[in-house]
Amino acid sequence: MVTATKTMSDQRIDWWNIQLGDEEAAAVTEAIRNRCISQSTLTAKFESQLAETLGVPYVVCTTSGTSALMMAYMAAGIAPGDEVIIPNRTAVATAHAAMILGATVVPIDVRPEASIIDETLIESAITDRTRLIVPVHMNGKSCNMNAILKTADQYHLQVIEDACQGLLSRYNGIPQGTIARWGCFSLGLAKVVATGQGGAVCCHTEEDYILMKRLRNQGVNDTDPQHNYNMLAGNFKFNDILSAIGIVQLDKIEAKLRRQREIHDTYRHGLQGLKSIRFVPVDTDHGEIPLRAECVATEREKLLQDLKEYRIHTIAHVCNINEMPHIGGQGPYPNSDFFSRHLMLLPCGPDQPLENVKRTIDVLKELDERYQPF
Ligand SMILES: *Cc1c(COP(=O)(O)O)cnc(C)c1O
Repeated sequence: MVTATKTMSDQRIDWWNIQLGDEEAAAVTEAIRNRCISQSTLTAKFESQLAETLGVPYVVCTTSGTSALMMAYMAAGIAPGDEVIIPNRTAVATAHAAMILGATVVPIDVRPEASIIDETLIESAITDRTRLIVPVHMNGKSCNMNAILKTADQYHLQVIEDACQGLLSRYNGIPQGTIARWGCFSLGLAKVVATGQGGAVCCHTEEDYILMKRLRNQGVNDTDPQHNYNMLAGNFKFNDILSAIGIVQLDKIEAKLRRQREIHDTYRHGLQGLKSIRFVPVDTDHGEIPLRAECVATEREKLLQDLKEYRIHTIAHVCNINEMPHIGGQGPYPNSDFFSRHLMLLPCGPDQPLENVKRTIDVLKELDERYQPF
């Protein structure tokens, strides 16, 4: 029996729900009282906690996931004229970070079942100018890293993981972003550990760690001051106010991830059998953790509109890279095109009440018959 009825008393449900509370506020106040407002002890503490959580020796925090990608690309020596292979469905940041350095991105199609790079298409996209492959673990779904690293090895290419949506989601038991030489994360508002803005790069050797810290701070070399100011770099430093929030958020990571899995499993189970709406699952049984709840809908625009009548506000997902006029791509992109037309997000986020998920499922069941089936 479907009991979802429209009532004005229903609380508005937003597509993303993350709460900052008294603990975060107290941590920020204390940081300011202690004059920790730039990059200092709290950033170092947050970085080491993040490194420990990920099981890597080094993490370097920065202003955003985009800056994290740009610094990693700089560390990989990406320069004008180079080609960077990326999936056609990703945050535009994956492309922009390369284009700002003068490189050209080569977007390739994704797999049919999820918005992750189709590793079987990589080889034919490689040219004399290809330097780097950037697998993006969209929504915590693991790219086939074994195959990608093998191809990269064969053609002497570098690999940087964009794990901005995959914090603590696992590939064969290993956290995404910690598999290749460099892995990048975002601490933006719609990410699982949200400091508002922020990003992180992780690496495995002291040499790479020193290089990343120099890229973040005008080339300054803390460990060897004689070699200061002899390379191009910028100011991509993080700050202690945001680190104070990050430390509190990281303490709650297990509960956040648990909720995200619960939301995912509730939708997966609850939406079974619908004809015009299909949930897009990740492999929670094997350690993947979804950042968001994704579904495909035959008549997405109508559904988004109709959901608003029930005070459920959600959004279509990212547009294809090749559709952006300043980027483009060769294609064809049949799988990306499908996702571009049909993929949308359902209410989710680490603090989304399960009641909201259940109400959304009831509404989707009620609406399902309005649209043409798949
Ligand atoms: C969020 C995101 C980024 C960019 O991170 P910002 O912190 O917003 O700069 C890059 N790649 C992916 C896949 C993302 O989801």
